[in-house]
Order: sequence, then C-alpha cells, then structure tokens
Amino acid sequence: MSQPTTYQNYIDGAFESARDHLEVFNPATQALLSRVPASGGEEVERALAAARRAQKGWAATPAVERAAFLHRLADTLRDNVALLARTITQEQGKVSGLAEVEVNFTADYLDYMAEWGRRIEGEIIESDRVGESIFLFRKPLGVVAGILPWNFPFFLIARKMAPALVTGNTIVIKPSEETPNNCFEFARLLDGLGLPKGVFNVVSGTGAAAGSALTSSAEVDMISFTGSVETGSRIMASAADNITKLNLELGGKAPAIVLDDADLDLAVNAIRGSRIINTGQVCNCAERVYVQRGVAAEFITRMAKAMSATRFGDPLADAAVEMGPLINRAGLDKVARMVETARREGAELITGGEIADLEAGYHYQPTVLAGCRQTMEIMQQEVFGPVLPIQIIDDLDEGIALANDCEYGLTSSIYTRSLKSAMQACRELDFGETYINRENFEAMQGFHAGVRKSGIGGADGKHGLYEYTHSHVVYLQA
Ligand code: NAD
Repeated sequence: MSQPTTYQNYIDGAFESARDHLEVFNPATQALLSRVPASGGEEVERALAAARRAQKGWAATPAVERAAFLHRLADTLRDNVALLARTITQEQGKVSGLAEVEVNFTADYLDYMAEWGRRIEGEIIESDRVGESIFLFRKPLGVVAGILPWNFPFFLIARKMAPALVTGNTIVIKPSEETPNNCFEFARLLDGLGLPKGVFNVVSGTGAAAGSALTSSAEVDMISFTGSVETGSRIMASAADNITKLNLELGGKAPAIVLDDADLDLAVNAIRGSRIINTGQVCNCAERVYVQRGVAAEFITRMAKAMSATRFGDPLADAAVEMGPLINRAGLDKVARMVETARREGAELITGGEIADLEAGYHYQPTVLAGCRQTMEIMQQEVFGPVLPIQIIDDLDEGIALANDCEYGLTSSIYTRSLKSAMQACRELDFGETYINRENFEAMQGFHAGVRKSGIGGADGKHGLYEYTHSHVVYLQA
C-alpha cells in the first residue's frame, strides 16, 4: 500500500507547510490516503490578503489573456485524466468511469467559460432626459470565497473558479474536508501555468474553522457555496454582518413523474441511473417517484429488477463495479436510518434495505420502497443514497401538486409521450429545472439554480457567469 501524501495549502502562488493536519480516508477501504492542512483564521486571512493584492492587476489583464489561461489549464487537466480520476475515486468513492467523466467535463467547462469571458457585454440604455446617455458596465466583484462539497469535488472547483477568474475576480477555495486531495492536485497542475500569484488559492480545513473564517471575513466580496441547506443557512447568518453577496447551491429532493403513457424503458433506465450514479449522492437526481396507477405495478417490478442487478463494491478493486460506497459512516447511517423510518411509517420494501457487508466499505444495497406517502420523511428529505421511494398517483394534476409540495426546489422530471402533459408540467412545476423524457443531468449552457430552500442564485451559462459581476451604471450628460 502506498504511503499517505501530505498536502500543503496553496497561498499567493506557493505551497506552504501547515502546523496541524486533518486525515483523509478511502470510503471503500478506510485506508489513510493523506494529511491536509487543518487551517484556521490565520491561513484564511493570508490567502484573502493575497487574493486582494492580486485582484486589481488580474482585472486589468485583457480578457483574452485571462481566457487563454483557462484554456491552458483545461489542456493540462486533459493530459492528466488518469491521475486525477484515480485521486477522485480514492477519496470520494465514485466509479472510475464517472471520475474520468468528471475530469473531462471540468476541462470542457473551463474552455466554455473562457469563451464567455471574451463576450462579456454591457448595455447602453435609453434615457428620458435630452442629451443624457446611460451606460451599464459589468465589473468583477473582487475576492470570491468558494466553499465546496464532496460529491463532485473536482468539477465544483471549476464551476466556481472559471466564471470568477474570467470576469476578473480572484478566489480562495476551501475544499470539503472529505475530499481535499483532488483540489490540491488541481493546484499542483495549475502552478507553473503562468497565473499571477494570489489569483487562485486553496486553503483546506473544517467548516467550523476555515469555512467560517472565510464566510465571516470582511475581505470576501462574494461567497459561492455548494453544500447542504443547514450549512447554507449558517453561512447566510455569518455573511450578514458584512452584507456579503451570496451564491448558494443547496440540496434537492427531485421528483420524477411517470405517466401511464411514458416510455417505461426510458423512465426505468433514467430514474435508476439517478439513484446509482455517484451512489445516489447527486443534488439534481430523481429522489422520489410519482407513478400513475395504470403503469405502477409494471414500473415497480422493472425498477426493482434493475436496481437489484446493480453491481457495487470497491471501484478500484473491481473494474466492473457500477456503484461505489457512500462517502462516510455518517452518510451510510443516515441512509439506513431513513429506510428504517420509512418502513416503520408503512412503506413496503421491494428490494435492498440493508447495509452491505463488504469488508470496511460504506456500502448500502440499491433499495426500492413502494407504497410511500407524501407525509413520510423519505418523500420530503434528501436521502443522498441509492434509495428510491415510490408513490402512486391518479393523474398529472396530483403528481404536480405533490412534486411542488416540498421545501426543496432544485430539479424535477416527467416521463410522458403527451406534448400536452409535458407542457402542463413546464408551466406548473415550481423548480429551477425540469427534465422531460431524459435523465437529470444539467448542461453547462443552462442555468443550474433552485427555488425555495435549494438556494439563491445559480451557476452555468451566461447567467451563471454574470453572478460573478456587479453592474455599474454611468449617467453621462453631454
Ligand atoms: P456540507 O454543507 O456539509 O459541507 C459543504 C462545505 O461547507 C464543506 O466544505 C464544509 O467544510 C463547509 N462548511 C461546513 N460548515 C461550515 C460553516 N459553518 N461555515 C462555512 N463552511 C462550512 O455539504 P456536503 O455534505 O459536503 O455536500 C452535500 C450537500 O451538498 C447535499 O445537500 C447536496 O444536495 C448539496 N449539493 C448541492 C449542489 C447544487 O448544485 N445545488 C451540488 C452538489 C451538492
């Protein structure tokens, strides 16, 4: 077994040793992978000061040069897919194929945002006054704090740093304490590509120490956070003193509506994918199903067969594994507890329902629960595991009403061959995104944003880019 790596914070263009460390483990084997800095206020303040010093010069750098840097970085990531994917799989547990997709998607995302960075446009606005011109400029916010979760740890670095950097901001990233290694590998590859020092910084540590030092600092102009509702709420409170701009990408409880006229092969395949990909730990994937009565029995039978056929285990020990472990013991215990609660509340276990005994890994059997009701916790709260609860509905109106009746509002989906039903769903589903006859997977050209407790603001596309700018309106009388 290889020796654990010791990583260092990346501050002001240099890697620096830390006094205290956190340990990072492989969730499939519990092997110790690395030691990373357990940073606190002192490291965070130095990183923010470096980002502040660098910001004006970076903003004054021509957009074409800022974009060129992101293109160079994208090419470098593509040259290192195998190493990066392995790092992600080791610490996060996703299967190797998905880890490779994550790295390649990240490189494509850097290219995409680099292209947008050269197309930032202001506006000239018609005035009511004679002889007056009104100009709207878009300007960088300044220093961004990017706080990351563990489920797509690598892609989320780019989702925050690419729009921040191409619009002329600088950034301090704090990775999740579960998955910091890939972020330090990202920094290692970035170092030496010619980025001015201080523009991109990485500081690892716990949420309570490094995270809250970032969110409470007056040196931060925008907090770009992806993670749970609970932490998002704490961050809002912490940002209140300085009225810091917030971009919050929080949890989801995505409903999937399956109507009698659905293509069942498509629906079963796509919804099963939602629960298996990344071991069900994806904010936008279908987490609850409303199936119309006419196809309910057939749907449940086919879904149970497909879920129970899933091969799971340690992705690095068996290349044929389709699903890896959950992220940690707490994640595994939460899934097991929520399934037990659902059964006590009257849900019928169709398949799965057990912690799988695969030596030291945090594995849970792919699980289908039928006979669920809207008031059950499993239909309302995020499970973040390979568990699919199913409730029967009589018609689309009922499905839409139940789908909307939830504190989360990130994504939703519907399976139907009727254009009329699809259009009704478009009009009446209250969500940031709806997928029609297709798996839940957003495109970088879209706008990934939730309503209700799923967040504030969004990411991707032109709208996501402009989240990292502020408007400056100039009135010229001449
Ligand atoms: P989490 O909220 O536990 O942690 C996220 C990050 O916040 C970590 O880096 C953590 O250290 C930090 N943090 C914790 N407490 C903090 C504090 N007081 N101040 C500042 N930072 C603090 O979330 P997680 O378990 O890492 O991620 C899973 C959650 O993320 C799920 O709810 C999932 O739905 C959500 N998620 C949402 C999206 C989206 O786009 N909406 C994408 C991925 C994940």
